[in-house]
Amino acid sequence: MTKIQMTTPLVEMDGDEMTRILWKMIKDELLIPFIDLKTEYYDLGLEHRNETDDQVTVDSANATLKYGVAVKCATITPNAARMTEYNLKEMWKSPNGTIRAILDGTVFRAPILVKGIVPYVSNWKKPITIARHAYGDVYKNVEIKVPGAGKAELVFTAEDGTEIREVIHNFTGSGIIQGIHNTDKSISSFARACFGYAIDTKQDLWFATKDTISKKYDHNFKDIFQEIYENEYKAKFEELGIEYFYTLIDDAVARVIRSEGGFIWACKNYDGDVMSDMVATAYGDLSMMTSVLVSPNGAYEYEAAHGTVQRHYYKYLKGEETSTNSIATIFAWTGALRKRGELDKIPELVSFAEKLEQACIKTVEDGKMTKSLSLISTCENPMILNSLDFIKAIRETLEGLL
Ligand code: NAP
Ligand code: MG
Repeated sequence: MTKIQMTTPLVEMDGDEMTRILWKMIKDELLIPFIDLKTEYYDLGLEHRNETDDQVTVDSANATLKYGVAVKCATITPNAARMTEYNLKEMWKSPNGTIRAILDGTVFRAPILVKGIVPYVSNWKKPITIARHAYGDVYKNVEIKVPGAGKAELVFTAEDGTEIREVIHNFTGSGIIQGIHNTDKSISSFARACFGYAIDTKQDLWFATKDTISKKYDHNFKDIFQEIYENEYKAKFEELGIEYFYTLIDDAVARVIRSEGGFIWACKNYDGDVMSDMVATAYGDLSMMTSVLVSPNGAYEYEAAHGTVQRHYYKYLKGEETSTNSIATIFAWTGALRKRGELDKIPELVSFAEKLEQACIKTVEDGKMTKSLSLISTCENPMILNSLDFIKAIRETLEGLL
């Protein structure tokens, strides 16, 4: 069999712990036998981030801007325990945060649906993709615990010294205040990433805020989305027969539950934080969630939504058997390969990515799965496989499809 040729390399960001073990298995079993895999390799494993003073993370993000498509393995975000475990020079920042800041991107998360793993919401038939604005609001707040009676004011001082002043509250006793902000630039990037991704995936886009209550703050989000839609995307949406739909956040929540799925739900930062966990759980399992970071200038970074599955890794190190689900990491690869194939006009690569996704789904639907999936599957007698055997089972299904 001749291998599928690639023209432009993928930016490959290797990672940590159990997902790093899966990463190599996936490449060896599911990719290299079929594709003349071209990648520009960046080792984002914590040891190498520490050796390079985290420069490797910055370099990998810049390479993503250069080539346009990256695939990332889960990585450790260091905390105090990791400082000692890895003897770190510094508590390096979250790689995802660093990459997101450089790509100025929005994260889209979508569940992978398989028969036998039934969403808790029985009418959800298609995936709901959550797009979370990843800048500002309560995540960049300033707070004061008010000790007692007094006046709280909101003051903006322009560069020329002129002031805008509003009374927040005249306190008669103790209380709390909070200042939050966002920028038109960040909201515009978020809007463009959402409209672009809706066009890319040919799905409707929903957006919701609480603009009836937050008449300036949330209303500004609504206005920016509407203006960008009218001026830049409306014609394309109409051509594709997809819809942009704005409503209030409480109405959106009710409609989402009643829906069949199959759309993108754009959320402000806090709403996205809360709703993405609700949607992920309602679809079944975090290990079946994909994630893609889309930058407003058209760069894509694909990854699994879960972490490095630390507990399984420690078992693996002790030589014990693990049954870790590799599907979301495989889908990160197929997402990246499909996008590369589309950009470089290599239909065989696009078709391979689709077949590999079908192979993952079919393998589970045929009753072969990892332990965590067997716990939530309605399949009667599932065959529970270890990490490598599950990947080998997917390979066997894939070979049947090719
Ligand atoms: P996690 O790695 O997602 O794992 C949490 C638990 O979920 C696991 O212990 C496991 O449960 C289950 N799980 C997750 N993925 C699974 C899979 N593919 N197959 C089977 N079970 C799976 O989250 P964490 O333990 O909170 O974080 C571990 C490390 O990952 C941390 O250092 C964190 O910084 C990092 N992290 C990275 C990213 C990223 O790079 N995008 C995201 C989140 C976290 P059982 O143990 O019960 O089997
Ligand atoms: Mg959260």
